[in-house]
Amino acid sequence: MINKFIKELKEPGNNSGNSYWFIFQGEKLLVEITKDDRCDIPLLDNPSELNLTTTGKQYLGRYNNCRCYSAEVTGNMNPPQNMEFCTLRQLFYRMDNDLFWAAGYASQIVLFEQTHQYCGRCGSKTEAAENERAKICPECRLINYPRVSPSMIVAVIKEDKILLARSPRFKGSFYSVLAGFVESGETLEECVIREVKEETNIDLKNIRYFGSQPWPFPHSLMVGFIADYAGGELSIDKNEIVDAGWFSVDNLPGLPGKISIARRLIDWFIENR
Ligand SMILES: [Zn+2]
Repeated sequence: MINKFIKELKEPGNNSGNSYWFIFQGEKLLVEITKDDRCDIPLLDNPSELNLTTTGKQYLGRYNNCRCYSAEVTGNMNPPQNMEFCTLRQLFYRMDNDLFWAAGYASQIVLFEQTHQYCGRCGSKTEAAENERAKICPECRLINYPRVSPSMIVAVIKEDKILLARSPRFKGSFYSVLAGFVESGETLEECVIREVKEETNIDLKNIRYFGSQPWPFPHSLMVGFIADYAGGELSIDKNEIVDAGWFSVDNLPGLPGKISIARRLIDWFIENR
């Protein structure tokens, strides 16, 4: 999926041309608004060109062979002309796909920098590791890596129907496949079985891997599965789900956007029924 963006730890020696700057204010990213109302990451020599004062500069890698950096603005600043501070979710469909995933990576590195300044065990100031993206405590040698939280997401199939549910967290009225966070000591398959049982009372069989997708809200890794219905009457956990049902290809409800693995799972169902 990420093909134009190459992650790198060390900056290449020769410095030529401008760089992409992923500049965050809180969780919002500074983007340039193009003539056709799309969003782009500013290509700059330095953020000072925009009269922005930044901190926490990190080298991320290269996009289209240009260097990429992340940084944060200090204080509350108004965006420069023709620019906006946007949440990543606002940028889903307004940005080149690969650049969007690079922005997702940038947001996770900025979050890692913010939350790992000090050792969680002894409280000493941490240092950047030399050969990997990590923070090391110089006193007790504790190593921390950017956080990744695995979540499973599953298309449950019963004959010619798919199980879709609406979460109270969804904006709008669309339905999607079920998802949930993996717990400590649990396999992905156990998580699939547990979450679907907890949320809908449905038992599963034939669980198989589908694909995965980083989901930078703020640091999930969505691991997709397909599974077959094995038993149980549909009964929803009202704390987790507003509504759920079995849908055939010709009566599908509103669906999540094309960029998500949720939609890829539903599209797989549509193509294969
Ligand atoms: Zn320590």
